[in-house]
Amino acid sequence: MQVPLLDLKAQYATIKDEIMAAVAGVLESQRCIGGPKVEELERAIAQASDCEFGVGVSSGTDALLNCLMSLDIGPGDEVVTTPFTFFASAGSIARVGAKPVFVDIDPRTYNIDPSQIEAVVTDKTKAIMPVHLYGQMADMDPIMALARKHDLAVIEDAAQSITSTYKGRKAGSIGTAGCFSFFPSKNLGGIGDGGMVVTNDRQLYERMLIMRDHGQQPQYYYHFVGGNFRLDPLQAAALLVKLPYLDGWSQARRENAAYYDKRFAGTEVQTPYISPDCGTVYNQYCIRVPQRDRVVAHLRDKGIGCAIYYPVPLHLQKCFAYLGYKEGDFPESEKAAQEIIALPVYPELTDEMQDAVVDAVLEAFG
Ligand SMILES: *Cc1c(COP(=O)(O)O)cnc(C)c1O
Repeated sequence: MQVPLLDLKAQYATIKDEIMAAVAGVLESQRCIGGPKVEELERAIAQASDCEFGVGVSSGTDALLNCLMSLDIGPGDEVVTTPFTFFASAGSIARVGAKPVFVDIDPRTYNIDPSQIEAVVTDKTKAIMPVHLYGQMADMDPIMALARKHDLAVIEDAAQSITSTYKGRKAGSIGTAGCFSFFPSKNLGGIGDGGMVVTNDRQLYERMLIMRDHGQQPQYYYHFVGGNFRLDPLQAAALLVKLPYLDGWSQARRENAAYYDKRFAGTEVQTPYISPDCGTVYNQYCIRVPQRDRVVAHLRDKGIGCAIYYPVPLHLQKCFAYLGYKEGDFPESEKAAQEIIALPVYPELTDEMQDAVVDAVLEAFG
């Protein structure tokens, strides 16, 4: 049985008429930039995240960029983050001219280890960027305590964790701001690129609104050099259709995860650890196995979709060689990169498909 890692067509089939009507509505209105759909989505995502404000932007990466630029972080500044994440977390820090400073992960959650942050804080440190990986939030209390102590901003990279919780608080609502991605493979995926920043800081919100439109306000008067980071109203319209389904989809992901947990219990497969503080949304269900590459080859042979998020931690990437890190600097990130496999966990999976995935994984151990 073939099982894809993700099946966007299966989801689309359930909401096709609504999406088509929403897209047609935007086309009929010819409000092709900004407008009511973008504003409605900003209010809806802010509300779903227990935040006051939302700023729609062109991608998750541009959410991070807009946030960093609006906090005036740039050359000479340092931002502490994890090397075990998608490229954009550290990429956006470097892109504004600041220096990404890495801290290793907690090997159980794969999120930044707060106990290692203070050792790298210097007088140049301006922010901490925890990443809520795979749908589970980072351990925010100690991160916020450090941020208060050293007067640092906290930018939550919540691209994989929209509506996830930590001690009952929503992703994006704890730090200075939270950044979401609507890349189609995220839990709330658009019909193309999109993103959003949420915050409770009115001043930051107002800066981000201007920053996403070249730093312009009013038209042709520029306060600072911003960018074109605007969210497409076609994306906003499609996302407004999907948002009411998100909690149900997250629930289905958790049920799928629970089914895997049960079937892998007592085997060599290490299933995800979810902290009792966290309500995860399982953007990914990642197992750890010895001899990972052999298991991946077997899954591919059997037509089971899987992926490695991420095979090379960021401190070992060529583009960050100038930072001077070397192999061995972040052993837990390096080990996770060798052992991790993401299995299909999308909401429309059936038990039969999950059985095929489990059987294929276990077969690989012979
Ligand atoms: C997807 C992702 C991003 C970037 O989002 P895009 O919308 O693809 O630009 C940033 N950080 C993390 C952790 C992500 O998973």
